[in-house]
Amino acid sequence: MKQVFNFSAGPAVLPRPVLEKVQKELLNYSGTGMSVMELSHRSGPFEEIIQGAETLLRELMDIPEEYEVLFLQGGASLQFSMIPMNLLGEHGVADYVVTGSWSKKAVKEAGKIGTIHQIKSPGDIPAYTKEDFSPEASYVHITSNNTIEGTRYTTYPETGGIPLVADMSSHILSEPIDVSSFGLIYAGAQKNLGPSGVTVAIVRKDLIGKAPETCPTMLKYETYVENGSMFNTPPTFAIYVLKLVLEWVKENGGVAGMEALNREKAGLLYSCIDESSLFSNPVPEASRSLMNIPFTTDSDEVNKLFLEQAKRRGFEFLKGHRSVGGMRASLYNAMPLEGVRALVDFMKEFEADQG
Ligand code: PMP
Repeated sequence: MKQVFNFSAGPAVLPRPVLEKVQKELLNYSGTGMSVMELSHRSGPFEEIIQGAETLLRELMDIPEEYEVLFLQGGASLQFSMIPMNLLGEHGVADYVVTGSWSKKAVKEAGKIGTIHQIKSPGDIPAYTKEDFSPEASYVHITSNNTIEGTRYTTYPETGGIPLVADMSSHILSEPIDVSSFGLIYAGAQKNLGPSGVTVAIVRKDLIGKAPETCPTMLKYETYVENGSMFNTPPTFAIYVLKLVLEWVKENGGVAGMEALNREKAGLLYSCIDESSLFSNPVPEASRSLMNIPFTTDSDEVNKLFLEQAKRRGFEFLKGHRSVGGMRASLYNAMPLEGVRALVDFMKEFEADQG
């Protein structure tokens, strides 16, 4: 099989040892004589998987007792609706910091439920303080890593006690964060956590239980709390793989270990881009994402040629998001250092050929 490096923004590369373990256990999970996909979600072995996943996530992210860990469906996109439905409360007002396309989508859905104040960031992400927010807001929503624009917060907003809600879909577990400074954190799994189909929400307990009576049962956080995320059939296979990914993170130095590697990988690629006279990245240095790195040349033709040659060499999914064009390399936790080294070597070679 040819060596391939997968730079997709999601679904994305998974750790090789995780995939090997899935393969090994596929037909006979832990001596049950059946695949994990065939196990009842009410069975002992699956109970162990889902509880194990929660325990590991709590350990890796140092999640305090006052927070629930929920396994949901519908992707991060359903959270765009569930968050206002559950958190808006009586004022019905929330502030959304708009730093890119995914923030805009979150605003659009929340606007159907309540009154949303938008705070538009300039190209970079400044340090927000409580004066930036409405005193009556039930929460402040941010997209902590912008998958398409390649930006991230390096300082989280000071909200003066208003719960901070963060869409961490594209960088959860990539660097340590202080969970206690957030009211709610959510992430679709298909980038740093596992396969698509499961969404993780980490919710401060006092924010749960405020959804109106009319809120559908499946859209209330309390339903998931009261039923251990198993009011209905959860995405069992996705949760199983997520647990294996968390075990892999733990074996590889935990979140601090991931951060060290992510800084090294992103550093290599940013240096290559900054030193190049062919490629460029538009993001101010202080707001650069460690996970999603867009880059481009001045010419659509050259971009196309680069992408064609890259694909032939086994560098997959480097095409930039259709809204921005150019290229984008997503360097999630599971992208090995050798993948980034190989990409950088190829970029240098390509540039020399253009010369
Ligand atoms: N938020 C961010 C920051 C994302 O990157 C994505 C997916 N690329 C989403 C939300 C949407 O996630 P999902 O497809 O799980 O709904």
